[in-house]
Amino acid sequence: MTSFTESEERQALRREVSRLAGTFGREWFVEKARAGEKTTDLWLAIGKLGYLGINIPEEYGGGGGGIGDIAAVCEELAAQGCPLLLMVVSPAICGTIISRYGTDEQKQRWLPGICDGTGTMAFAITEPDAGTNTHNITTTARRDGDEWVLTGRKIYISGVDEADNILVVARAEDARTGKLKPVLFVVPTDAAGLEYRPIPMEIVSPELQFQVFIDEVRLPDDAVVGDEDGGLVQLFAGLNPERIMAASFSTGLARFALDRAAAYAKERTVFQGPIGSHQAIAHPLAQSKIEIEMARLMTQKAAALYDAGDDMGAGEAANMAKYAAAEAACDAADRAVQTHGGNGITQEYGMAGLLVATRAGRIAPVSREMILNFVAMHSLGLPKSY
Ligand SMILES: Cc1cc2nc3c(=O)[nH]c(=O)nc-3n(C[C@H](O)[C@H](O)[C@H](O)COP(=O)(O)OP(=O)(O)OC[C@H]3O[C@@H](n4cnc5c(N)ncnc54)[C@H](O)[C@@H]3O)c2cc1C
Repeated sequence: MTSFTESEERQALRREVSRLAGTFGREWFVEKARAGEKTTDLWLAIGKLGYLGINIPEEYGGGGGGIGDIAAVCEELAAQGCPLLLMVVSPAICGTIISRYGTDEQKQRWLPGICDGTGTMAFAITEPDAGTNTHNITTTARRDGDEWVLTGRKIYISGVDEADNILVVARAEDARTGKLKPVLFVVPTDAAGLEYRPIPMEIVSPELQFQVFIDEVRLPDDAVVGDEDGGLVQLFAGLNPERIMAASFSTGLARFALDRAAAYAKERTVFQGPIGSHQAIAHPLAQSKIEIEMARLMTQKAAALYDAGDDMGAGEAANMAKYAAAEAACDAADRAVQTHGGNGITQEYGMAGLLVATRAGRIAPVSREMILNFVAMHSLGLPKSY
């Protein structure tokens, strides 16, 4: 192994996940999505094999691996046409935050279910009026005796219908300063006062996005994850894993699109030789291959830095990886559609659906503009622009 190749173990993990996802396959995934059904069978299958919680400590049912491992799982699933967005959320964001900051009792309560897939956790920070500016969220938590009372509204929250709990970012009043500070709460999806409604999206996926209405939801004291005064730091702990996973989701989808495009370009003949012999078709696909490999390399670097405990270095690399991966995926999907000609926009070939799925990677979980803001400010030392 050199520093530029993954360990034998990681490569074997990729092969195993790829094989498993291949037994389900893209057609199965799309059928589930179009029928309004779920991909729970695949979710539980990866949980059973220990891949879903591979990044979570062994004593809580996980595999004791790192973000690089769970990112590899996420990428290989997507590369087989079975992207599971909740992997970004449940094991990577929620699993990381709880592993790092939860009490032992909280870890015992929530992590085993995150690992085996029977206790999925959604994550809710985005609000309609705050959007990207998460400092402006207004979901508030107030104390009432021994309990907390939460009120607010969240939007675009993935997988609420498949989750037992949501890790909700709310704001509570600081007893000393009177200012509002972020606090993280685990809220059961069946809590009294919590309602959710699906948002009709154009993405072909069994995983849906929801509006969540939180109306005077009462929570016990131990619903707070970590230190009430350390909400921001704790929240940041989930950001690098989130970006590394989002990057892997995108590179996986990009590989899927490119594989399908290359296969089609080898088969389809309209003049002399297959269409892949025309450089107008071959070059964009070759360009995608290069862009995807570059994004993968940056993603692996970000994961390696994160797993080595270099949060600062990982922050820059994770942002760059997420940016590069989303760009590579959007371009790969577009080129795959073009390669397929009219077939590119039929449901039978399923390429056009990838346009929206990959496009979401430019918006969520952090937009390309906010990454460019980060790089302009932190990597180039330019003034803050917002
Ligand atoms: C498929 C999908 C799944 C999601 N899942 C979740 C989830 O599970 N949990 C959750 O909490 N959220 C989730 N989100 C929400 C997602 O994180 C937000 O959509 C994203 O952060 C952008 O916020 P917004 O949509 O309000 O856009 P806005 O904040 O309204 O931004 C609109 C545009 O303006 C740009 N912009 C805003 N401010 C600046 C600035 N200062 N400089 C330059 N450009 C700027 C943005 O980049 C964007 O292009 C999901 C979104 C999608 C699409």
